[in-house]
Amino acid sequence: MSTLQPVRGTHDLMFEDIRRHRHVQSKFSGIAERYGYSEIATPVFEATEVFARTLGDTTDIVTKEMYTFETKGGESVTLRPEGTAGVARAFVSEGLAQQAPLKFFYSGPMFRHERPQKGRQRQFHQIGVELLGVPGPQGDVEVIAMADHILKDLGLTGKITLELNSLGDHESRAAYRQVLIDFLSVRRDKLSAESRERLEKNPLRVLDSKDPADKEIVASAPRFPDHLNQISRDFFKAVQDGLGEIGIHFTLNPALVRGLDYYTHTAFEFTTEALGAQGTVLAGGRYDGLVQQMGGPPTAGIGWAAGVERLAMLLHELPALRRPFAIIPVGDAENAVAQKLCHRLRHAGFNVDLGYGGNMGKRMKRANKVNAVAALIIGENEVKQSVVTFRQLDSGEQVTVAMADLESHLALYR
Ligand code: ATP
Ligand code: MG
Repeated sequence: MSTLQPVRGTHDLMFEDIRRHRHVQSKFSGIAERYGYSEIATPVFEATEVFARTLGDTTDIVTKEMYTFETKGGESVTLRPEGTAGVARAFVSEGLAQQAPLKFFYSGPMFRHERPQKGRQRQFHQIGVELLGVPGPQGDVEVIAMADHILKDLGLTGKITLELNSLGDHESRAAYRQVLIDFLSVRRDKLSAESRERLEKNPLRVLDSKDPADKEIVASAPRFPDHLNQISRDFFKAVQDGLGEIGIHFTLNPALVRGLDYYTHTAFEFTTEALGAQGTVLAGGRYDGLVQQMGGPPTAGIGWAAGVERLAMLLHELPALRRPFAIIPVGDAENAVAQKLCHRLRHAGFNVDLGYGGNMGKRMKRANKVNAVAALIIGENEVKQSVVTFRQLDSGEQVTVAMADLESHLALYR
């Protein structure tokens, strides 16, 4: 029988890898709480409708990437490909409109059926925030500032650039849409089959195409910022001024469109050159129409999500783990005393590793492997005299310490 492997595009996270993930998540939740955001955990799967209705039926996610299946009860459900739709669904189904403005953060696995490669998995993890019920540009500035803050806290400044664009309000979008249709229709024959279809159903999607020929055409297409109405231009300027005032640098990227249908006004991405083709680490924007599309009252929204795998790859060194103390019974006769001491010291707050078995040499080797500060050796004599032999592993220095004094002695080395 062949050995079972993880499904393509999924990974076991352990040791250093999961520590990197946890580091990203704990920095993230610390900062998010400092900004007054509260955590939300929506289900990992939702009615397919939740995503199909909100993401738009011409997006890559909906047309190609969703893990959709029928339940035994005959409902169509989908493993969440992203977090915003679920939060918006919760906002509506939990009747949270009265409590707006609301500030949420989340983290967890997402699922997309994509071609696996560096920085692109089928099960990956995101951290993200959603700010609901704040229509003004202070909202945009705050969520971008928070993203910037987290990236700084992770030590990633210098490697990452903030790119900014505006997709305007609905009126600007409609005006731009027509200009784009005129431009693309003339070049229809050169577009990929997929983009020809997008041109019919949702022409803005063509801007987001990854096909090289499409990209070339898009490069000379009319740009969103040139077709913004006054309201949208003022809004965009206020966001830029707000960022300028708190010293957040950005570059304008008029070609930046987000892959999802529900964005209005601000769109932004934090990108890096350090990851090859998968250069976007964090992306977001304003989605004022989303909650209404979900069947709720008109509610402004803005948020972002970042890929934890991509952030984890960029991290330098992780903070060192707290080094344990190794308890080493010399022989089986001392096992009971050693186990009891472990229990006592762990409850006193120390990191303690127990040498389970084997001869002294093997147990000392284990103490080194777990990078212990010191070995607490317990042999027949030690038990008789109620002491331990305390050997510092870096220096080899050795002293005898009374059992009763161990907590205060260990505290010196913590
Ligand atoms: P891309 O252009 O790389 O496909 P996207 O526009 O589909 O990204 P979003 O939906 O904006 O990505 O998701 C936000 C972030 O989540 C991305 O910037 C990226 O860091 C991460 N991400 C998205 N898809 C994957 C994936 N399949 N594997 C790993 N990380 C991902
Ligand atoms: Mg994608």
